[in-house]
Amino acid sequence: MEHKESAKLFAQAKQFIPGGVNSPVRAFKSVGCDPVFISRAQGAHVVDADGNDYIDYVGSWGPMILGHAHPKVIEAITRTAASGCSFGAPTALETQLAQMVCEAYPNMEKVRMVSSGTEATMSAIRLARGYTGRDKILKFDGCYHGHADSLLVKAGSGAATYGVPTSPGVPADFAKHTLTATYNDLGEVKALIAANSGDIACIILEPVAGNMGCVLPQKGFLEGLRALCTAEGIVLIIDEVMTGFRLAYGGAQERFQVWGDLVCLGKIIGGGMPVGAFGGKAEIMDRLSPQGGVYQAGTLSGNPLAMSAGIATLSLLKEEGFYQQIEEKSAYLEQGLRQAAGRTSLQTCFQRVGGMFCTYFQNGPVDNFAQAAQSDTDAFGRFFRKLLDQGVYIAPSQFEAGFMSMAHNRDDLDRTIEAAERAFAAL
Ligand code: PMP
Repeated sequence: MEHKESAKLFAQAKQFIPGGVNSPVRAFKSVGCDPVFISRAQGAHVVDADGNDYIDYVGSWGPMILGHAHPKVIEAITRTAASGCSFGAPTALETQLAQMVCEAYPNMEKVRMVSSGTEATMSAIRLARGYTGRDKILKFDGCYHGHADSLLVKAGSGAATYGVPTSPGVPADFAKHTLTATYNDLGEVKALIAANSGDIACIILEPVAGNMGCVLPQKGFLEGLRALCTAEGIVLIIDEVMTGFRLAYGGAQERFQVWGDLVCLGKIIGGGMPVGAFGGKAEIMDRLSPQGGVYQAGTLSGNPLAMSAGIATLSLLKEEGFYQQIEEKSAYLEQGLRQAAGRTSLQTCFQRVGGMFCTYFQNGPVDNFAQAAQSDTDAFGRFFRKLLDQGVYIAPSQFEAGFMSMAHNRDDLDRTIEAAERAFAAL
């Protein structure tokens, strides 16, 4: 497979953009090759600048659950754009999407739209601090909640991939307010709460951690956090930026029947347009400006194009059997990949929930970041390159989840399994 055009574009990009990319993991740095530049996409496929076609399991890092360029989403965006791209004034579309979101998540009585997942988590934390009058927050090692200062402490995703889980540029005076615990370790959380009694504003977590691969909450973990937060007056922030509208229409919370006080959303609710949202109990949300004093704002918040893409997307997700089909496609892929890996002596461990999955290059199981970090990332890099070369595009890091879309058909899945089989064999 030739990547001449991508190589040329990357060289040009590096002249003007740090590292040649606008988000670090796109650079493919940890998998030992240069990035492919995408020129177009349709359904489950993306095509690069050299015309190579790939079956795509990145899905723009989660949003494209319908597949790329779904006609109804494109129609909604173009129809809206014809009437103007942004007004900085309220529109009916914002209320329409807000209502859809609140109907999907019974604990979201009110929701505010922002333009990224980072803004959603950053704002939710400010609100939790304003609401409780406390400064400290608690997050989990390997969870990624965007790149706000207080959240780039022991972070997952690209921060973990590139070995800078705690970023330079975050003042120690900020970082000291961020407590970190081991994912799935309730005992550690209890000890931290006891040691910081009355000081913790919120606990924030990914209900399934997709930024260290695909780590599921052990039985009782989410329930235990819920009970601790209720008992201690701590705001439980469930970051469903990745899992929202993916693991079920009501996200991980519907799937596991544990509900946060505040919820962060992003990705799918924008149908591929820049979006984020945070919401929860009216009692907390009404502390936001202009109703309350906690300030939060955005020139492009509730942008009409993003709102219409989100409304079109969610309308399609509501169709009967949608999540059942995502489950079936993902289970089929899982079975094929497990069998393919099983025919070799490689150490691999496949973890999945719904349309979100990861192949770890180790025996597993993986229940926290320290365990995820034991994976053979060199083997992952070779696997990634072998797949790419056969027209299968997965996330270029061991510490990221793969995503199934409705557009993946049996042929795509069979070709992926065959490519994986050859890749495993070549390792
Ligand atoms: N929270 C989670 C769980 C995420 O996965 C991400 C991004 N992958 C974010 C927050 C940040 O979202 P964004 O990249 O849109 O700022």
